[in-house]
Amino acid sequence: MHAVVKTVPGPGAVYEPWPFAPKPGLRDVQVRVEATSICGTDMQIYDWHELMAKRVKPPLVMGHEFAGKVVEAGKQVSDLREGDIVSGETHINCGRCFQCRTGNGHVCERMLLRGVDTGGCFAEYHTLHESSAWLNDKRIPIETASAQEPLGNAVHAASSADIPAHTVAVFGCGPIGACLIGLCKSFGASKIFGIDIVEYRLNLAKKMGGDVLIDGSKEKVVDTIMKMTDGRGVDVFFEMSGAPPSFEEGFRVLRPGGTAVLFGLPSKNVEFDVANWIVFKDANVQGVFGRRLWSTWYKTAEVLKAGEVDLSKVITHRFALEEFAKAFALMKSGRCGKIVMYPNRKPPS
Ligand SMILES: [Zn+2]
Ligand SMILES: [Zn+2]
Repeated sequence: MHAVVKTVPGPGAVYEPWPFAPKPGLRDVQVRVEATSICGTDMQIYDWHELMAKRVKPPLVMGHEFAGKVVEAGKQVSDLREGDIVSGETHINCGRCFQCRTGNGHVCERMLLRGVDTGGCFAEYHTLHESSAWLNDKRIPIETASAQEPLGNAVHAASSADIPAHTVAVFGCGPIGACLIGLCKSFGASKIFGIDIVEYRLNLAKKMGGDVLIDGSKEKVVDTIMKMTDGRGVDVFFEMSGAPPSFEEGFRVLRPGGTAVLFGLPSKNVEFDVANWIVFKDANVQGVFGRRLWSTWYKTAEVLKAGEVDLSKVITHRFALEEFAKAFALMKSGRCGKIVMYPNRKPPS
């Protein structure tokens, strides 16, 4: 089979033959990857950002978002069978540590991340333990099934703050930020600000229900938001971009007593004005990592079932897996939403 492999430390990746796992282990399922989507983490690995350069050990098959058909299930797999459509939780937790055994498996002490610490799904086939597989409803489109993992990030973020009748500012309107805007809308936010520096993404944010879209490269973000909240600032600030200026602008527009939800990963350390941004404001700061296991997945499935967020609006481009370099270049430009790649067939046009 072929896979997209980070072969050596440094920028780039290669599409090359990769050994096909001979037989799934007793509790593994082997899936034919039907669709696999690109995430910001993949971009950081591809570009070899500092954070990932410290963690990733090549050679590594990249990728963690996918939907695939089970082609073989190990002998002791309990509730998955051939033909099932599954996705995978990126956070592979040990199930044994203190965090896992106290209901916090998403911050497991021995956490492995798919496509970061362990082999990923930018490949024709992928094998995973049944405990990290999610069985999809077959009525869900395959691309949606792949992109529900990042939708889960948005669900986890939106569940971390009090949204109804509150003003929110979402910094970073990529696919996850755009999904978050859709969720805030459906959860009853009174006004949603979407901030980005790429027009394409601001349009995406608008499509998903953003009320005020601000181009941070052209407009004064803080002044605009303060003016439009009568000088009070927003109740909730979501940092979804990891871009250093967003942290400062976000905390400056956060009202005293408000909640900051931090999701974006800055590629380097960011300087923080702890006194003015957090202490004097009596701010609540909540980090959001991945999804809660597995409550976020159940919630996300309900969100999809209820049609609360239309993921098809966020999925904007499709490529064959071997065209991954084109896909990454497009992603880098920011002029896209979620990009889905097809390892085993031609992408639908
Ligand atoms: Zn992801
Ligand atoms: Zn654990």
